[in-house]
Amino acid sequence: MIFGSRTWLGPALKPIRGLYREILTVSLFTNLIALSVPLFVLQVYDKVVGHAGLTTLQALIIGMGVALGFDFVLRQARSRTLQRVGLRIDVQVGRALFSKFSALPLATLESRPTSFWQALFHDVEMVRNGLSGAAAAVIADLPFIVFYFGLIAVIAAPIAWVLLVMLGLLVLLAIASAVVVGRSSSREREQALARDGLLGEMIAGRTTVKALSLDKDMSAQWEARQADLIESALTRGRQADAFHNLGFTVNMTTTVLLTSFGALAVLEQSMTIGALVAANILGSRFIAPIVQLLNNWRTFAGLRQSAARLDEVFALAEDRTDATLELPRPMGRLATENVSFAYQEESAPVISQITMRLGPSGLHAIVGPNGSGKTTLLNLLQGLYAPSDGRVLLDEADVSQFSRKQLSERIGYVPQDCFLFAGTIHDNIAKGAEMANDEAVLKAAQLAGVHDFVIDLPDGYGTEIGEAGRRLSGGQRQRISIARALLRDPPILLLDEPTANLDQEATDELAGRLVELAKTRTIVVVTHSPAVLRLSDSIMVLQKGKIALAGRGAEILPRILNRNLRPAASE
Ligand code: ADP
Repeated sequence: MIFGSRTWLGPALKPIRGLYREILTVSLFTNLIALSVPLFVLQVYDKVVGHAGLTTLQALIIGMGVALGFDFVLRQARSRTLQRVGLRIDVQVGRALFSKFSALPLATLESRPTSFWQALFHDVEMVRNGLSGAAAAVIADLPFIVFYFGLIAVIAAPIAWVLLVMLGLLVLLAIASAVVVGRSSSREREQALARDGLLGEMIAGRTTVKALSLDKDMSAQWEARQADLIESALTRGRQADAFHNLGFTVNMTTTVLLTSFGALAVLEQSMTIGALVAANILGSRFIAPIVQLLNNWRTFAGLRQSAARLDEVFALAEDRTDATLELPRPMGRLATENVSFAYQEESAPVISQITMRLGPSGLHAIVGPNGSGKTTLLNLLQGLYAPSDGRVLLDEADVSQFSRKQLSERIGYVPQDCFLFAGTIHDNIAKGAEMANDEAVLKAAQLAGVHDFVIDLPDGYGTEIGEAGRRLSGGQRQRISIARALLRDPPILLLDEPTANLDQEATDELAGRLVELAKTRTIVVVTHSPAVLRLSDSIMVLQKGKIALAGRGAEILPRILNRNLRPAASE
């Protein structure tokens, strides 16, 4: 099976090959039973009506009753088996996708919009529908159309050629529909992504949208994207309808042709009336799965496209999950050797040729104008981005040898836009280290200055902070984020503009705390705060991704001020 060879689908399908065999076996029997209806009609016309054979009719009716009852039971069983297949694909592939998604490097995740990643989960649904829905049942029935043709060839040989001609026509229709509907389905998906992307952006930026009263502007964009989507959905619908209707016409034409040529054959006495009526029923059964195939083409096109997108995502390189190096808790020496980095291969480097040595321990500040590459450098230091050139070393070992988990335990990070999760303050501090006891949480909270404001809250550490921590102020969120980073007691702590949301008093207090923490940890802080810079052991000035100045804090700070690079002014 072509799908079985896919790494993400194979493991889900392999254990359920038996279920597919079951589905095919049941389809074999339901199709065999379906043959009994035209045979019944043939017998009734030729044996019952012609010879007043009421006893034969009774026997035939009883036989049919049993057959149809059995058919119902079998179809029910097939639907249930298909459901089990669907469930399995949903669970297994959904899980595989989620763990793949979690293991993708930050740079890969950032290279595509949120809506792209969300839509992948919809792709799993498409694969599920294609492999286990009504469309799969049609595919299971398809091989058995040979039965119908075989029976027609036996009972109504003179008109069997009509079906072959119509089959050829339907195959041509199917190919045309595959191309046309496939193309418009993929356009429709792109437009749905564009519309959902706008919606996502509007929700994420709702404060700005409201503050700047951008609703008119956004609504114009929304209307345009919605109109594009509706337009392509209509086009796709029109095309699908046309193929559906053509299929219907071919179906009816088959009946007309079979009856006309059949009538001639009956007149020539090469066929009975019963055979003609039975051939008509068989003809419809022969054509029906192919027409249904046309109607389900959108599902197949979707399945193919979704599978191709999932292939692409599952082929992406992952963050390292198995470490090649088992080191005890590092001393906290952090170094770079000629590190360069560009966001895209062809674009100019954002970081060029940076060589530095920090720690163990000490407070190390990075200063520089906006866009000089400070945040990018922090991401390189903690292995979130892989350098395009050069190496980042943690206690002399290349960080690329560590797993993501090891790095997150060894290097704490407080980003500029601290993200908190819905839940309590306690849960947010303990996030990622759920085993941490209350004592550890309290200690981290005290170190980060969270405890001071938590004790004033009625629910204390159990206070619900709302989606993304919206019920807290920026400064409070920042402190919780610092506590979270400190909980795992990392030997290295990276902070990106931690004082950006703090008042003077809180800034001085945080600077004091950082000095305290820096006695036993290597602290790297991107900052423009003179309070922090004054207390820093070393300062590095970045400009356009290069080191402009670096050295001991006491030496560099006056030079920064003299060169009128007053950091506060550059922000
Ligand atoms: P800083 O933290 O010093 O303000 P950044 O490291 O955030 O600077 O950004 C440095 C440069 O890299 C900027 O010119 C910015 O446009 C670019 N940049 C930052 N993040 C990305 C990204 N995810 N994709 C592409 N370019 C980026």
